[in-house]
Amino acid sequence: NGELQLLATTDYLTSLNNHQSFYFYFDSLKKHAGKIQSPMSLTLIDIDDFKKINDTYGHLVGDEILKELARVLKKNIRKCDFAARYGGEEFAIILPNTDLDSAIRLSERMRTAVENHIFKVDDINIKVTISLGTDTLIPVDFHKNHYDFIKKVDELLYDAKASGKNRVQHPRVAV
Ligand code: C2E
Ligand code: C2E
Repeated sequence: NGELQLLATTDYLTSLNNHQSFYFYFDSLKKHAGKIQSPMSLTLIDIDDFKKINDTYGHLVGDEILKELARVLKKNIRKCDFAARYGGEEFAIILPNTDLDSAIRLSERMRTAVENHIFKVDDINIKVTISLGTDTLIPVDFHKNHYDFIKKVDELLYDAKASGKNRVQHPRVAV
């Protein structure tokens, strides 16, 4: 039973949590944050030009990049943070008890960690960068529909892409 449950909540490729468990945890971490009246942040991450990596090196290499990126992200966050593979090349990190300034700093740290990491597959070094969108839910907004919040963070991520990639977009910077 435990093994089946793990299979149902885990992304087979990266071993991070999968899309479904992201929504489950988002909801339950939000409820907890409400109880302790503490902010909660969300960072969405997308690999820059991932299609080009797949087209140039093939899908197997693309898969290795996804796995390695998951490891880099995991290594740079706290155990209490929740990391998931949110879509094909998109990742999500929920940061309990974290305000906007801290979420921005952490996102910037992840962006640099990936930029400086050497991704090596079959003796080929591949340049990988990520774009990030991050925002914070504060207790007075907890009653609002959380899909709107997630959508807003997704739009920030889109803005990070549109304005040059390899950057963090958050509510304190204009596009
Ligand atoms: P900092 O790295 O500039 O982080 C500032 C604040 O951002 C932290 O304040 C924390 O609220 C938030 N933050 C940063 N990284 C993470 C993260 O991975 N997950 C979450 N949930 N929040 C994060 P805090 O906790 O008061 O830490 C103050 C300073 O202490 C940090 O400044 C850093 O210099 C150091 N520090 C704390 N924990 C660690 C750690 O595990 N490893 C390292 N290398 N430094 C740490
Ligand atoms: P952890 O809390 O699970 O954090 C794992 C890794 O996430 C850290 O590895 C670091 O790379 C990154 N990280 C987490 N929080 C922060 C932060 O606030 N700022 C920065 N710059 N990086 C952060 P690291 O540094 O090797 O630490 C390993 C473990 O040692 C941490 O696991 C934590 O349990 C402990 N630790 C390290 N520094 C501190 C600290 O300043 N305060 C506390 N309370 N624990 C620390």
